Amino acid sequence: MKICVLPGDGIGPEIMVEAVRVLKALDLGFEMEEALLGGCAVDATGSPYPEATQKLALAADAVLLGAVGGPKWDSNPREQRPERGLLGIRKQLGLFANLRPAILYPELANASTLKPEVVAGLDILIVRELTGDIYFGQPRGIEVRDIDGQKQRFGFNTMHYTESEIRRILRVAFEAARKRSRKVCSVDKMNVLECTQLWRDVATETGLEYPDVELTHMLVDNAAMQLVKNPKQFDVMVTGNMFGDILSDEASMLTGSIGMLPSASLDANNKGLYEPSHGSAPDIAGKGVANPLATILSVAMMLRYTFANEAAAVRIESAVKKVLAQGLRTGDIFEPGMKKVGTRAMGDAVLAAL
Ligand code: NAD
Repeated sequence: MKICVLPGDGIGPEIMVEAVRVLKALDLGFEMEEALLGGCAVDATGSPYPEATQKLALAADAVLLGAVGGPKWDSNPREQRPERGLLGIRKQLGLFANLRPAILYPELANASTLKPEVVAGLDILIVRELTGDIYFGQPRGIEVRDIDGQKQRFGFNTMHYTESEIRRILRVAFEAARKRSRKVCSVDKMNVLECTQLWRDVATETGLEYPDVELTHMLVDNAAMQLVKNPKQFDVMVTGNMFGDILSDEASMLTGSIGMLPSASLDANNKGLYEPSHGSAPDIAGKGVANPLATILSVAMMLRYTFANEAAAVRIESAVKKVLAQGLRTGDIFEPGMKKVGTRAMGDAVLAAL
């Protein structure tokens, strides 16, 4: 059981140290090896996803990532930008399923901009298709064309999905729902887009393979509205790349605590890349104040989805809940009356709770 550890840039190394301590404390016999990804890799090798890292990532069962990016590399040429490293590793590993839970622990209900009674106890999982849709469709471009008797610039993209691409992401959603409340809501825009009519048809067909899971369908505009109106009606939401991009950000913001949210990107064999939903937070990097909980909870997701060790995943999640119940808070989730702690002290508390 090999794990490739990529601390990355900004707060990445600080939060990764805590996640690795938690993983080691569980003593599950993992082999861990560190490598460079992102800006730090550009500085050391000229490439954001160097060959040595590729070799390690391909050979590993799972990849644990901190975050990449920062102002230092913002004016680099595109192929030397940290984000290129992230896109490169996702593509090379064939990570087509992005799982983003939006969980609001009852203790953090005030962190949301929505009323506590609307969001307290929120626990939804957004499953987003990550390698298809209009983001990757050809043809695409901006061209000058003769339209209505005059030369105009014309921008175009193509939305497409194959039946097999839709079926495999739906299966990920149904399997995930089996580990939760057994409800899947498939989101599309079938009233306007043929491509998503196919999505709905294949979702319905795939649902027949999972009679123990309740399947509903929702149009994306209504889904965006329902997420704000009554988010607790959802368990697992599954959708395409573009709708998922937007809905998963909306859902994570319902919780108001980006420092708490993990994510997973999986391939067809449950090999995965696990990372916090937030970025490299250059504004607080090196200060020892970053919240390590999203990265620690990403370790829990890794144990659940890649290593099928539900018990160990639950142990980590319970330890995090215990620490929140004790009133410990990093700056991003702090409120008066709580005990403010830094990155290391938060890691210590999770270890003690474990
Ligand atoms: P960000 O998530 O890094 O930061 C947004 C705000 O949230 C900042 O105020 C930051 O201090 C705070 N924050 C984020 N994580 C936190 C944590 N764990 N604890 C406490 N506070 C936290 O987003 P941004 O500022 O838009 O982007 C900064 C850099 O990160 C950019 O270079 C961007 O490209 C990159 N980025 C990387 C990833 C990734 O690696 N997957 C994702 C998003 C952004």
